[in-house]
Amino acid sequence: MSTSDSTSSGSTTRGPATSGEGRPSIVEHWIGGVPTPGTSTRRGPVWNPATGARQAEVVLGTPTDVDLAVQTAAKAFAGWQDVSVSKRAKILFSFRELVNRHVDDLARIVTAEHGKVLSDARGEVLRGLEVVEFACGIPQLLKGEFSEQVSSGVDAYSFRQPLGVVAGITPFNFPVMVPMWMFPIAIACGNTFVLKPSERDPSASRLIAELWQQAGLPDGVFNVVHGDKEAVDALLEHPDVAAVSFVGSTPIAKYVHQNAAKAGKRVQALGGAKNHAVVMPDADLDFAADHITAAAYGSAGQRCMAISAVVAVGAAGDALVEKLRERAATVKVGPGVDDTAEMGPVVTPQARDRVVAAVQRGTEEGATLVVDGRGLRVGGYEDGFFVGPNLLDQVTPAMSVYQEEIFGPVLVVLRAETLAEAIALVNANLYGNGTAIFTDSGETARTFQRRVTVGMIGVNVPIPVPMAFYSFGGWKDSLFGDRHVHGPEGVGFYTRGKAVTSRWPHVDHVSDAAFHFPTSG
Ligand code: NAD
Repeated sequence: MSTSDSTSSGSTTRGPATSGEGRPSIVEHWIGGVPTPGTSTRRGPVWNPATGARQAEVVLGTPTDVDLAVQTAAKAFAGWQDVSVSKRAKILFSFRELVNRHVDDLARIVTAEHGKVLSDARGEVLRGLEVVEFACGIPQLLKGEFSEQVSSGVDAYSFRQPLGVVAGITPFNFPVMVPMWMFPIAIACGNTFVLKPSERDPSASRLIAELWQQAGLPDGVFNVVHGDKEAVDALLEHPDVAAVSFVGSTPIAKYVHQNAAKAGKRVQALGGAKNHAVVMPDADLDFAADHITAAAYGSAGQRCMAISAVVAVGAAGDALVEKLRERAATVKVGPGVDDTAEMGPVVTPQARDRVVAAVQRGTEEGATLVVDGRGLRVGGYEDGFFVGPNLLDQVTPAMSVYQEEIFGPVLVVLRAETLAEAIALVNANLYGNGTAIFTDSGETARTFQRRVTVGMIGVNVPIPVPMAFYSFGGWKDSLFGDRHVHGPEGVGFYTRGKAVTSRWPHVDHVSDAAFHFPTSG
């Protein structure tokens, strides 16, 4: 997932990614409130995954481009940090209205470049919008504390201030929602922002930048630099970047965490996942199968909260696999623009080949291939990057199909005899992003939620994504750093505290200077 197939091109065509006239159009950076071509001749392909067409090219930024964006953001910080919190909230409210008006436009861009079906793309935009709405409450969220008379004539109070220029580096699978986990809160807190979106679906961030401008955000507060490893490394090393939020695969999350920390930055790095659904014998198996199927194959399995492993406990096993088989076999796969499609293509030809190879390895390692989606062809879209739903049973923890995050429409089923065995399986996995239990027993659910070493847990809820007013994040190899994103932890991440101890001696006329360490009196 971390490979990016960039190319060189001398093309200088400008304009929106979807102009579609002859040569692919170019997606440029957005720096200081204007589209900026940058200094690189390297370009990355932007595919239409449904048709297989190379519809645009994205500029792959250089350290010089990153420096321009960071310097621009640093200059803008000088003014933005002093804008009153109520004025910032007003701009956030205007931005909220604009995004709300453009939900369908953003969703269409996401579908065109990512491939997910339009209803799913809309859902992603709406979940991102909820973080904007949370950030509209910034005057309340930034309230400090005040303690009167902590010592004779002395008061103590605390408040939080922005960090400066903060960077967001985001994955392809939610090109609107994941950046929106970060920048509304960072900007509301008084920081300025440099976004490095995924080079695979870069165009949504351009419309977002334009909407910020229309909302009245001063130029330079929100900037976009496109690129791959070169741009990321430049952000991680830049002395004027105070903090980095990253979301992506585990190896890159680890790399970003280590390198940003080494450069003295505050960093949160969310990684990959292998989310287990534990199904108990007392569960409603039809309900569980319906929800697991949607959670496994929705967005072609390219969600960090997708269910990719089922642990069927005791007698649930055979009956559940049969129900999953029936449902997987009838998932309607098609282009994202088809209103009747439930699942679109995967994002690139490399992703399709990786999924097909993983399924092949699973069968070679001894798993039973119950549903085989490898040969799927969608009529009229023969060049699209489609893979149908795959279901593998009798999978064991030793198999690569279980150990790897495949990030495609592949669901594996493991068996366990007891709840304790199922919990041990979940806990032995390196990832700890999300998990779910399907059961009719409150006691079983309570034991599960207390014992699993996973950050987000669903009880009869397959994709337990917290609301924007909670924070989002996993455990173990799914998160490096100690703060989750958005919600209250987001506000904490993007600010630092000051505590003031103050007195006005002329009021009480006290003079208690002493050479011993001051104590309260
Ligand atoms: P990725 O790790 O390949 O890319 C993420 C970002 O890192 C992109 O902006 C990319 O340009 C950059 N990058 C890629 N290779 C790099 C390198 N060698 N050095 C520096 N930067 C590099 O991830 P992806 O394929 O875009 O997204 C899918 C992954 O993201 C999956 O693993 C998924 O689980 C994860 N994800 C996690 C969460 C979460 O909340 N934990 C949410 C969404 C996605």
